Amino acid sequence: MQTVSLLQTPDYELVALKQNIITLLKPLGGMAAIVSRGERVLIKPNLLAAKSPEQAVTTHPALVQVVAELVTEAGGIALIGDSPGIGGFRRVAQKSGIAAAAAASGTALVEFTDSVEFPSTGMFHRIQLARAYLDADKIINLPKLKTHEMMTMTCAVKNLFGAVVGTQKAAWHLKAGTSQELFARLLLEIYLLKKPALNIVDAIVAMEGNGPGSGDPVQRGILIAGVNPVAVDVVAARLAGLDADLLPLEREAERMQLPGSRLEDITIYGPALDTLVGARFRLPGGLDVQFGLPGFLKKVMKQNLLAFPAADTKKCVLCGVCRNACPPAAITIQNNALSIDKARCIRCWCCRELCPHDAMAVRRGLLLKILTTLSGRKKP
Ligand code: SF4
Ligand code: SF4
Repeated sequence: MQTVSLLQTPDYELVALKQNIITLLKPLGGMAAIVSRGERVLIKPNLLAAKSPEQAVTTHPALVQVVAELVTEAGGIALIGDSPGIGGFRRVAQKSGIAAAAAASGTALVEFTDSVEFPSTGMFHRIQLARAYLDADKIINLPKLKTHEMMTMTCAVKNLFGAVVGTQKAAWHLKAGTSQELFARLLLEIYLLKKPALNIVDAIVAMEGNGPGSGDPVQRGILIAGVNPVAVDVVAARLAGLDADLLPLEREAERMQLPGSRLEDITIYGPALDTLVGARFRLPGGLDVQFGLPGFLKKVMKQNLLAFPAADTKKCVLCGVCRNACPPAAITIQNNALSIDKARCIRCWCCRELCPHDAMAVRRGLLLKILTTLSGRKKP
C-alpha cells in the first residue's frame, strides 16, 4: 500500500503552515525520515512563469520557505531549483516570491542550466535532465495543483518535467507529438529515473479553468503529501473531481502497473477523502474530448473535431514568446500578424501556457462545439 497524507489549512500564514506541515508529514515518519544529516536536498517548486503568488501559477513561497526550514532543521542542506517554462530563472524567482522565501530560510537558489544524459530502460532510451537535479541526494517536489491544457491536470509527476532544461522541453513535446499517452509515458519515465523522496502538493489555493498559466485561482485549503507522486496525483485528482478517464497520466501509470496508480492501493491519513471533494475543477478550453470516435474518423474530421490555438488580436502584442516556444515551429509572425499552421500544430498548448498576455485563445471546430454542448461539458 502507498501512503498519502491529507490536511486542511485555510491559508499560507507561516507559523501555522509550518506546524501543519509537521503534522502532515507525521504518517510518513516526519522530515527526519526523509532527510539525513549532511544530504543535499533539492526543493523543486513549480516555477512556470514570472507571476505573483496570488495568481496561483507557481507554488506558494510560504510553502517553499517552510519546507526549506524543515530540511535545514533535519540536518539537510536545502537548495531551491527549477527551470521555468518562460522567463529567466532569477526574474521568475523574484516575482513568484521564491527568491524572498529562499532568503528568509537561508537557502541557495539553483538555476537548472546544464544537463546530463541519462540512460533509461524505458521507451525513451536517453533522457537529459538538469545536472543540479541529478546531483542532489534527495528531491522534494512541491507542485501546485492546477488544470492543464494538454494533460487535464498538472501535479506531482508533471512538475518533475521541470528537470528538463529550458528549450529541451520543446524537443520532448515534439517527440511525443500529439499523443497524450506518449507524453504521459515520458513524464513517468522521468519520474522513474530519479524518484523524489517526498511530494507535498500546494492545493491551498489551486487553479482551475485555463491552467496551467492562465486559469483562475480556486480556494481548496488542502495539503497533500506522499513519497510516491503517482499516488499523490491520484488522490489530488479525486479531490479536484477528476476521474481517470480525463487523465492520460493516471491511465498510463495504471497501464504500466506502477504502484500507487489505483486508489484502492492507497492508504490515506487525515480527513476522509470524500469529505474534501468539492465541485469539479473547471476544465481548460483546449482539452481533447474523447467521444469514442475511431481514429480514422478523427483524422478526416480533424478541423471540425479538434480545438486549436488562435491568437486573440485584441490582446496579442506580437511579442513572439509563443513562436519561440512552439515545438514544431507552427507559429509565424509576419506583417504584424500571427498565424498558426494547423497541419503542423501538435496541440501541446505550450503557446497558451506560456503567453505572458493571456492572448492565446482556443478555437473549436463546429462539430466539437456541438459535441461539447451535447456532452454537457462545462466551458472554461
Ligand atoms: S499570443 Fe501571446 S505569446 Fe504569442 S505573440 Fe501574442 S502576446 Fe506574444
Ligand atoms: S501552435 Fe501552440 S499548441 Fe500548436 S504546436 Fe505550437 S505551441 Fe503547441
